[in-house]
Amino acid sequence: MSYDSENIFAKILRGEIPCDKVYENDHALAFNDIEPKAPVHVLIIPKGPYVSSSAFSADASDAELAGFMRAVHAVAEKTDVLASGYRLIANAGAHGHQEVPHFHVHLLGGRPIGPMVMRAD
Ligand code: 5GP
Repeated sequence: MSYDSENIFAKILRGEIPCDKVYENDHALAFNDIEPKAPVHVLIIPKGPYVSSSAFSADASDAELAGFMRAVHAVAEKTDVLASGYRLIANAGAHGHQEVPHFHVHLLGGRPIGPMVMRAD
């Protein structure tokens, strides 16, 4: 799947639509989810054009990979969930129910997040 530069997170990165910024470094931007599922629900995205976790893992530079993971930690620290705990989720593709085709990690916390995934079969 090729990168669609008109996706909503690309527009946020270009400043074409606003976001509620939580943290930023050279390689990543973090902002509050527009429909939060927990008291803390932050999206962390790389600044580069990567569709999914696979594209990011395969193609990003070491500096981008490190910058992104440092941003995840900075968000956990800034939102004060290090001690209580939190969950990271990265949806990919159709079965992963990824809605926005720009790689992102959800950081959820501020309450017990519950069982990991409901078994459907
Ligand atoms: P996905 O299903 O792709 O893993 O998650 C996409 C997330 O992006 C959803 O949780 C959704 O609420 C969030 N989202 C979609 N559009 C916007 C937006 O314009 N601004 C923000 N801050 N979040 C958005």
